[in-house]
Amino acid sequence: MGQVLIALDQGTTSSRAVVFDAQGRMLAAHSEEFPQIYPQPGWVEHDPRAILDSQITALQEAVRLSGVNVADIAAIGITNQRETTLLWDRETGECVHNAIVWQCRRTAPMVDRLAAEGYGEMIREKTGLIPDAYFSGTKLCWLLDELNLRDRAAKGELCFGTVDSFLAWHMVSGRPHVTDATNAGRTMLFNLAAQDWDDDLLRMLDIPKAVLPRVVDTSEVIGMLDTAILGRPIPVAAMAGDQHASLFGQACLTPGMVKNTYGTGCFMLMNTGDRLVRSEHGLLSTMAWRIGGKPTYALEGSVFMGGATIQWLRDEMKLLTTAAESESVAASVKDTGGVYLVPAFTGLGAPWWDMYSRGTLVGMTRGTGRAHVVRAALEAIAYQSADLMGAMAQDVGELPVRLQVDGGASANAFLMQFQADIMGVPVVRPQVLETTALGAALLAGLAVGVYGSIEETAQVWQRDLTFEPRMPEEERQRLTRGWHKAVDRARDWADK
Ligand code: ADP
Repeated sequence: MGQVLIALDQGTTSSRAVVFDAQGRMLAAHSEEFPQIYPQPGWVEHDPRAILDSQITALQEAVRLSGVNVADIAAIGITNQRETTLLWDRETGECVHNAIVWQCRRTAPMVDRLAAEGYGEMIREKTGLIPDAYFSGTKLCWLLDELNLRDRAAKGELCFGTVDSFLAWHMVSGRPHVTDATNAGRTMLFNLAAQDWDDDLLRMLDIPKAVLPRVVDTSEVIGMLDTAILGRPIPVAAMAGDQHASLFGQACLTPGMVKNTYGTGCFMLMNTGDRLVRSEHGLLSTMAWRIGGKPTYALEGSVFMGGATIQWLRDEMKLLTTAAESESVAASVKDTGGVYLVPAFTGLGAPWWDMYSRGTLVGMTRGTGRAHVVRAALEAIAYQSADLMGAMAQDVGELPVRLQVDGGASANAFLMQFQADIMGVPVVRPQVLETTALGAALLAGLAVGVYGSIEETAQVWQRDLTFEPRMPEEERQRLTRGWHKAVDRARDWADK
């Protein structure tokens, strides 16, 4: 059997396929962008056809570019934008509506209603999530309401799925209607402890069970790739939400290990092993993965404005020509001169959860210049991530020994050094920064025996650079106090 592994990385703005060898080296990759649809302010949709077509093209192109023999492909793993909701006809496969994207706020009033009716605590308890329009459950409910489809759904004529589920149904022979536990865990319908759909939650949103996919393991052969796609049947052997795949691709396999992805936003996940930790600090409990029927849990927190803060400096403030330039500009001054930027443009997430916070620039003096502001923006990404790390450490009772990083902005050495300094924990960057794709490939390889055990997949992970904390403790505390003072200034600003 060949040893080539392929990841399908279906993201929010593009569909990507990456070809790896069994040592985790990238042989080729190809991305296809597709349009974003904004029918109303705050609403976001994708054309399901565009998702599927772009993903199939990306796969075919990546295989062609890699030059590998299709017969040498051992398995394919799927990883995907999470929570995005699709509903299709079980007979024809046609979607009844565009995909409702995770960012879409159309069901915010429904979530407010659930909270007002006192469902908040039950949702938290069962799903580990904080009730929000972000998750799939209310999006599915909206589709059933709006298109008057409850009867058809109850008769089993319709299939609900997140993107993993949708791709599996359309790309795997025999049309399996499945989703993996990491994706199920983001629907607000899945009971984390019981590892199954929850009757009370389904009743809460009046969702018929017949519409739901079967929940499978994260690493498991769900079927063979439709022969029409690459000319041969190949096992499709993993499905995982993007952040979960990245946690696996970072080899965060033991409790206490943490990764942070610095993209548009930042996503931090900590493996908590078989312990389902309930956060006291506004973090989400979620799946890390489920393998061999055994759930591994995680804590998750996110920073809304990560790399997007740098985009804002470049595109709106015109302080930078490229994002990468932020590094040399920040390093051109020895500190921010007491300036803090709190990029709470859309409110603040964990551990603050204040939707009424707004962006704030404080501590300016007559000598404040462009470099100070740029530096304050990069530092803000690190402070927000450090706050998440602090919340996780308090929830599990100990500070992690290191933070593993990836994502576009992890290329910034100034940011990574400041991150290590402000957390007082080493920051480790791996050689393969495409950890999401790598994780999906490893999970697929594990299911078909390319790797003999979970531990064996970890050998693929290779360290590139370590940023050791060098800042004196006193200074770390002084700067962090300043940051929290600045956060206070940003809070409770917008009119309710
Ligand atoms: P996403 O997957 O969310 O689109 P990426 O992982 O591609 O994000 O990272 C892109 C983000 O990282 C952008 O917001 C960009 O501003 C930021 N970024 C990219 N390179 C750098 C850099 N060298 N320094 C700081 N930020 C950067």
